[in-house]
Amino acid sequence: MIDPFGRTVDYLRVSVTDRCDFRCVYCMAENMTFLPKKDLLTLEELDRLCSGFIDKGVKKLRLTGGEPLVRKNIMELVRSLSRHLDSGALEELTLTTNGSQLSRFSSELIDCGVKRINVSIDTLDHDKFAKITRWGHLSKVMEGLEAARNAGLAIKINAVALKEVNEFEIEEMMRWAHGEGFDLTLIETMPLGEIDEDRTDQYLPLSLVKKRLEENFTLTDIPYKTGGPARYVEVEQTGGRLGFITPLTHNFCESCNRVRITCTGTLYMCLGQDDAADLRQPLRNSEGNDLLYKAIDEAIGRKPKGHDFIIERQGQAPSVGRHMSMTGG
Ligand code: SAM
Ligand code: SF4
Repeated sequence: MIDPFGRTVDYLRVSVTDRCDFRCVYCMAENMTFLPKKDLLTLEELDRLCSGFIDKGVKKLRLTGGEPLVRKNIMELVRSLSRHLDSGALEELTLTTNGSQLSRFSSELIDCGVKRINVSIDTLDHDKFAKITRWGHLSKVMEGLEAARNAGLAIKINAVALKEVNEFEIEEMMRWAHGEGFDLTLIETMPLGEIDEDRTDQYLPLSLVKKRLEENFTLTDIPYKTGGPARYVEVEQTGGRLGFITPLTHNFCESCNRVRITCTGTLYMCLGQDDAADLRQPLRNSEGNDLLYKAIDEAIGRKPKGHDFIIERQGQAPSVGRHMSMTGG
């Protein structure tokens, strides 16, 4: 799949549920209205949809959410998709998780050919963690990380940089992650969906974080790529890798290789734009895949050049009305 700007689209992110067992302050409001279960694609439909994309050239597939591991029977989907790893059609099957269910699922994930996962942790302080996630427990996530490591999964930690919340903890988090053998990627908050707080209060530019780290560490740019938008540096003093995802301070759209589908089968061609294509109807209207392929081709044909995120003042609507939990980041 090649878009109008000549970019090859070979990475699909699939939000398998909009529900979550956490309520992170930058991601969701505390009282969220979730989709009625009947609107969700079934696991079989998700499998068919993903397989259609793999037929069309997707090489990397990431399950996300909401929290992907709280979707009922999710491992049935993972196991079924792993056939594309066995056949060589798919190069990587992975997921982004909050880690709360990893104690339960890590060995099965490895068994299904998942090799590495992203786990989101914004702080190492138990009280702060409870405040950020509203409903989460850091100890449970730490147990999950241990289980994942013991099972043999490679782990990357994702942390959203939050002004005054984890702003002065980033050095400690980096030392911890690298000490454990995990990569760490920092993410700028993006203006997606109504939340209960003011985003200008949360926004911490990573250019500033990097500058502060450089006072104590030697950061060397490296060409390392995981198929995502992070730019990596190697940290001489820890020997670890640190990634920066900077949608606001440094736009990376020129190398965008991905599209996203929601758990209702809506395809978003850009995380930062509202244009979308419904794939549920073409999926349901025919047993064959011709209608689906046609809808995918039409959608890729109008993938936009990029996003135009800005962090607004209080009272203004977010750049994009939907929450990150719909498209999974
Ligand atoms: N629940 C899983 C998790 O937390 O990893 C997967 C879904 S979550 C929406 C995916 C990633 O998006 C997480 O790393 C989360 O921190 C990040 N995220 C959520 N809302 C965000 C926002 N408004 N700006 C930047 N990152 C956000
Ligand atoms: Fe849930 Fe992930 Fe959003 Fe936190 S960031 S509320 S864990 S979906």
